[in-house]
Amino acid sequence: MFQTEPGEVTHMVTVVLCVLFLAASVVSTGIAVVAWRRRRHAAGFGATAFLNVGLAGWSATDAAEMLVRDAGLLQLTNTVSFVFVCTVVAGWLVLSHALADRAWHPSRRFVVLFAIEPVLCVTAMATTPWHQLFFAGFRDTGFDGGFVPVYGPLFWVHSAYSYAVLGFAFVRVVRLRSVTSSRYRAAAFAVLISLPSALLNMVVLALHGRLTDLTALGFVLTAPLMYWMVVRESMPAQAPVAHRRVFEKISDAVAVVGRDGRILDLNPAGDALLRRLCPGAAGTLVGHTLADLLGAATPLMPGRDLTVDDDRELTVENAQQSGLDLDVRVSRLYARGDRCIGWAVVTRDVTDLNRQRRELERQLQTIELLRADLAEQALRDHLTGLHNRRHLMSGLTRAVAADAPLSVALIDIDHFKSINDRYGHAAGDTVLIRVATLLSGATRAGELCARYGGEEFVLVLTGTDAPARIDALRARVATTPIEVGDGRTVTVTFSAGIAARTGPETPEMLLESADTALYAAKNAGRDRVALAPDPMVLPKS
Ligand code: GH3
Ligand code: MG
Ligand code: MG
Repeated sequence: MFQTEPGEVTHMVTVVLCVLFLAASVVSTGIAVVAWRRRRHAAGFGATAFLNVGLAGWSATDAAEMLVRDAGLLQLTNTVSFVFVCTVVAGWLVLSHALADRAWHPSRRFVVLFAIEPVLCVTAMATTPWHQLFFAGFRDTGFDGGFVPVYGPLFWVHSAYSYAVLGFAFVRVVRLRSVTSSRYRAAAFAVLISLPSALLNMVVLALHGRLTDLTALGFVLTAPLMYWMVVRESMPAQAPVAHRRVFEKISDAVAVVGRDGRILDLNPAGDALLRRLCPGAAGTLVGHTLADLLGAATPLMPGRDLTVDDDRELTVENAQQSGLDLDVRVSRLYARGDRCIGWAVVTRDVTDLNRQRRELERQLQTIELLRADLAEQALRDHLTGLHNRRHLMSGLTRAVAADAPLSVALIDIDHFKSINDRYGHAAGDTVLIRVATLLSGATRAGELCARYGGEEFVLVLTGTDAPARIDALRARVATTPIEVGDGRTVTVTFSAGIAARTGPETPEMLLESADTALYAAKNAGRDRVALAPDPMVLPKS
């Protein structure tokens, strides 16, 4: 049988521990490199890199301490190790900050404050020969000839400080209970992987002076978990970062509201909107209830007025009493087991959009009115305001299509040229306008009165009494004095030809017949009415 001496066993244990510590150191170095390269990929990777530098150094110096048999050398390795211990403590704190707040970066003040304690301690360690406040001496552990330091009071002050910092980081991460579970999972994981080394370190401290530093044994467990977190889980780890960034940058106001109406989370746009609605609100708005901020009657209360998955527009009064148009969407948030834990309220201020829309609608209305006006103008004679020939033709076509008694009267002012000649063109215009008014005033609803050209007009009359009505109109015009300026008045007469629809005549045929009748009326001496088709000049009444 192969017999092993006890001394050989302890030596083998020492060697195995050394190998494990060195392996942890190598893995931590690798992780530090990968995490640093990916520091922009996910929150906490920069901090993880920093932490792993500390872990790598602490593991390597722990391995060295296992082998050192000389008190002076041991103090040196302990002092070097100490720098890495401080790095690890700061690393956990930085990681907790980075996980809690993705936008966090160590400020210069943070770095300076955090450097004070390690610098003081290293100074105390380096000046040990004069005071022995940090190292009080060295003791043989009785295990494979190992030496360990016996610490003085400053070491315990340092340990208390370090555990206070770690405790703070731990509480901060545990309190990171957010609605986004993915974020919390990473934080919980970070806490979990710190526990083995923290427990081992406590054991070493409890057995002070009898046990070599085995904290690095915890790092042996931590390293693969860290590797998994950084290298394997890097993609999922990016998601929460992206979520947070979107949440913070999005222009929509987003609020996560608990079942009791309390605001659990709020993005900057949400914060700005709430402050517009409630300018008196000071400090952080997270933690307040919507009822506190906006009054119990606020229409922005999810679960009450706002039904879930409802997308609607609300008008909310802000402090300046000018209505804010808000587009509000509410979605229910579920925890595990389908338990509703609150609502996500996404609100968009559509006041400007609505104002622009109303302005656009107003402009469109104006354009439509202008278009209608232009269209109407295209159908009107600009001098008299009567319909023009184009409108007459389309109107007459429609009138002819209807099966009702209809007459077309073509009216021509007599000797109109002499009015122009004697009183001027402007006076002629005045006469045209006045006659047009008299003619259109004699038409009934559904009848047409148009300027046919020059001093010619067409009336499309319904019924069968057109000859009598036109003759009465003729008598009226002939007896109406028209003022043409400079106190002068003129009277004009007109001749008219009337064509009554007797069969399927076209508008052109009717106008031609009326023209023939008008010609007869002119020939008969003017100031009279003639009927088509057999132009019969009516005796003047
Ligand atoms: P008749 O009794 O045969 O119809 O004689 P008339 O002078 O009325 O007829 P004629 O066709 O010889 O003259 C028509 C005149 O109407 C000629 C033209 O200068 C004038 N006239 C046409 N349009 C206008 C207008 O818009 N304004 C004015 N002031 N005169 C016009
Ligand atoms: Mg004429
Ligand atoms: Mg004429």
